[in-house]
Amino acid sequence: MEISKFFEKCGNHYFVKKWNLTIGPKPWYLIGLFGLIGMITMLVLDVLTGRLISQILFLILIKFEFYFLFSVGFVEPGIVPRRGDEETGDREESPPANSSAGIHSATSAGTIINGVTVDRKWCYTCNIYRPSRGKHCALCNCCVDKFDHHCVWLSNCIGSRNYRSFIFFLSNSFFLASFVLLSVVFGDGNTSVSVGIWWLVVLVSLTVVAVTGNLLIYHLRLILRGSTSYEESGKNLNPGQSPFSFGDWRKNIYVFFATPVDPSRVMDNNGPSGFIQIRRRSSVGQSGRAPPTKGAHDEELTNLTKDTTAGGEFGITS
Ligand SMILES: [Zn+2]
Ligand SMILES: [Zn+2]
Repeated sequence: MEISKFFEKCGNHYFVKKWNLTIGPKPWYLIGLFGLIGMITMLVLDVLTGRLISQILFLILIKFEFYFLFSVGFVEPGIVPRRGDEETGDREESPPANSSAGIHSATSAGTIINGVTVDRKWCYTCNIYRPSRGKHCALCNCCVDKFDHHCVWLSNCIGSRNYRSFIFFLSNSFFLASFVLLSVVFGDGNTSVSVGIWWLVVLVSLTVVAVTGNLLIYHLRLILRGSTSYEESGKNLNPGQSPFSFGDWRKNIYVFFATPVDPSRVMDNNGPSGFIQIRRRSSVGQSGRAPPTKGAHDEELTNLTKDTTAGGEFGITS
């Protein structure tokens, strides 16, 4: 039985052909997280025996928790296809001629978006110019569009295709832990359970509330600004000068939560095809949804924001 019938490798990701899923680098962190949540679920169910309704609500939230964890960890995050040997003549892009000289202007393609010059650097590993919002993830060993960060615990990048699921996962974790904490502290607990287990559940819930609440506030602020963690870090843009805001926080929220997730550019219904051919799409991109042709996304974004003051209330600040 050939393993290549079921899996195909892209960077450090393994695509599961049959289910259109991806297994990122060091997947045991993600598998361990599933197991940890499962164990905590057993403990909480043991403590929450005071009221049946509490157990039912808890199980509903747990179901969402596993769903969103799966949606973040096993979904292709927005990998940009590498240019393989088979694909020729499809792109205007070509490697910088004097790349060995290390001249900055020769290894990047500048694009002006809302008056801010955004470098699209050449990726020597993937043989492409990265998208305006893309970055090559060293752990995944591939370029990811609308790169936010690589989460070791979720064994995946957070990018254009799973950023929204990541926010839902954080939100659900926050509400789930808050619900458990309030239920246990305010009287739904099992009085026969040991004090040690009771305190363990309280401390774990408190920790999850603090961590996810903090992350949620941070990322919601980024969504309002139409930015990402990577762009805010100042590694590719000056901090606070992300030009990708639509100029209005309400539009940024709408685009983030209401626009459909782009189809994968490296997988299709028959499995991954990133090294063999690039899927061609007729639709134009929204924020973080760069089509394969160079610069088209930037033109789209510029058109969408041309009637607004660059930055806006939650946009570019200095
Ligand atoms: Zn790359
Ligand atoms: Zn990554």
